Amino acid sequence: MHPHLLLGAAALTLLTGAAPGLDVVVIDPGHGGTNMGAPARAAGTGWEKEHTLRIARRVAEHLRAEGVTVYLTRWADVDMTLANRVRYANAHKADVFVSVHLNSTEKPGPVGHETFFLALESSDEAARRLAAYENEAVEAPGDLASAPSGAAETDVADILRDLGQTQAHEDAQALAAAIQRRMTPQSPFPNRGVLQAPFNVLMGASMPAVVVEAGFLNHPKEGLFVTSEDGHARIARGIADGILDFGRLVAEARKARPTSARAPAPPAPPTTTATEPVAPRTP
Ligand SMILES: [Zn+2]
Repeated sequence: MHPHLLLGAAALTLLTGAAPGLDVVVIDPGHGGTNMGAPARAAGTGWEKEHTLRIARRVAEHLRAEGVTVYLTRWADVDMTLANRVRYANAHKADVFVSVHLNSTEKPGPVGHETFFLALESSDEAARRLAAYENEAVEAPGDLASAPSGAAETDVADILRDLGQTQAHEDAQALAAAIQRRMTPQSPFPNRGVLQAPFNVLMGASMPAVVVEAGFLNHPKEGLFVTSEDGHARIARGIADGILDFGRLVAEARKARPTSARAPAPPAPPTTTATEPVAPRTP
């Protein structure tokens, strides 16, 4: 074999094998094990934890095809605390952490996909209730009525004070916007925008970290979509493409500031970017 040809092939692999701006991505399939998440009422079967895992596996396939190293916080139906999910992402020095969930309300009605970044103040009452549900679920599976304690809110304040100055926290908004932009053409249901809330699964993450609520399990039509194989495939494609877009933004920002160890992404978009009217969520 000609040595130069071999070298050329290797160099080409290096150039095309890795997505710009991304080395390691950690995807977190929400819930698992005894923590079922929300029931898939519209489909008549299954739980949130099964569908988040199927979507997450597909996201991993897409990103790996682009040369990204991807870890899932869980590959099977097992329990995992929220804190351990974040520790896992930090330990693997992830560039991006995305926790995948499906939404639910006590009464069907709300519809669409939304992506959250961490903040002490919730965008609205529905966002506050959602974060409280996702936060408490790991401690008390199936308990929809639980609310955050005052102590938990103090912890959030401490963590956000530390987070406030970090680039990762600011970049999380750009990551959330990139995912929403790419999920919207994949979903027949509305873009509910980028929102903020005190999600425990995002606390302490040292990289841009978001929670994707990919659709409402208990909406009569969207519930069927988000539990279908086609729905899983389209949601996963949207999430993966959004992550890849974010990586490109990071790579461009690094080029613009080559001396910076970790260059920032371009300015974050407004915290609410819904392009369609947001239906009020039933509490
Ligand atoms: Zn969830």
